[in-house]
Amino acid sequence: MKVLKCNCKHAYQDELYGHNMRAHNVVPQPSSVEYRCTVCNSTRKEKE
Ligand SMILES: [Zn+2]
Repeated sequence: MKVLKCNCKHAYQDELYGHNMRAHNVVPQPSSVEYRCTVCNSTRKEKE
């Protein structure tokens, strides 16, 4: 699990992690890592 920014609305996670910060599940990909928002299920790629 990783906390990342997402635009979806969730009052409880706003309070827990900060404004627009959401818990994301880590989804390993062949050549990178993807993170899936636990609230809206949108995915984002890891970027350094
Ligand atoms: Zn989201």
